[in-house]
Amino acid sequence: MKDKIEIRDIHPEGVAEEFDRLMQLDIDDLRAHESEFSDTCCPACHGSTVPHAFVHQSLNYRRCSECETLYISPGPIESLHLDFVRKSRAMAFWRERLPAQMRETRKPMYRERADYAADVWARMGIKPATTFEFGAGNGEFAEELAARNIVGSIVLLEPQALKLGLPNVEILTEGFEALMDSARQFDTVFAWELIEHVVEPDMFLRAVRQVLKPGAPFILSTPNERSVETRMLGRNSSNILFDHVRLYNPLSIRTLLERNGFRVVEICTPGKLDVARIQSCLDRRSETSGSDVAMRLILGDAVARDDLQRLLQANLLSSHMRVVAVADGDWRGAATPRLVV
Ligand SMILES: [Zn+2]
Repeated sequence: MKDKIEIRDIHPEGVAEEFDRLMQLDIDDLRAHESEFSDTCCPACHGSTVPHAFVHQSLNYRRCSECETLYISPGPIESLHLDFVRKSRAMAFWRERLPAQMRETRKPMYRERADYAADVWARMGIKPATTFEFGAGNGEFAEELAARNIVGSIVLLEPQALKLGLPNVEILTEGFEALMDSARQFDTVFAWELIEHVVEPDMFLRAVRQVLKPGAPFILSTPNERSVETRMLGRNSSNILFDHVRLYNPLSIRTLLERNGFRVVEICTPGKLDVARIQSCLDRRSETSGSDVAMRLILGDAVARDDLQRLLQANLLSSHMRVVAVADGDWRGAATPRLVV
């Protein structure tokens, strides 16, 4: 799934425009099913005080007054959303045009994730024999993990055909039901940048619980909507995107996980790119507001700029979260309640 880097940052003229054109066609297709859309309570806390926030890319967003989760509603139900993602022309275009240069620029991200997993295992005293990853994309994280030879067997669930050719990596393409039937369980489950695409998070978390060995960590990452970058750039932030149907924050992801019987071991926001993204957005802006002027003062000083990035990381205000949780409570989940208005 698309992560961090904007297509328009690295592609020649015309490609970004084509991506935007295909994305609009995708959204038009989705909106043709508007009569089947569902208007729901907050997917994280199930609260019903969820006023309309804004319209973006023709889709309506609500924000929960209790936990601040931002989500598309009315929006597609899970089956419609999955069908939409499967048929998306914009996403197929993105995958096909991902150049070697960009694959290289993404490598440090996968190395960092593997470093993080190794650190979590060391701190929890775990030597994992088997790991499982939901939505493995092109398999880059599995390749990184396999290269380190620290996990006996690595299992991926990814519907697209992948050819990794690594002896200890197994790729499941038949969907989650087949895995459930096998009753296999793993020493760690990963879901990098996935839960923001899931319409019914309780159902997803129930599935995660079923494949986790008792006491084993679930390690996930997702955008942090309660971040300075996302709040400041608003609809210009790459976090606010049509297929990010649910956008959590440190409070709401904790609420969601605890309601589903997980104990949160840690939440951090280790991002390094917030300040650069704010800078790039300010550089493109023609009109200037007072807060922009103040921000330019900070960004104009190299030391202050680095200090600001560290401050965002340390105070859960950077634009992506990493979460470690253990399922040692009871599952009290349910389908997100319909909103009665
Ligand atoms: Zn809420």
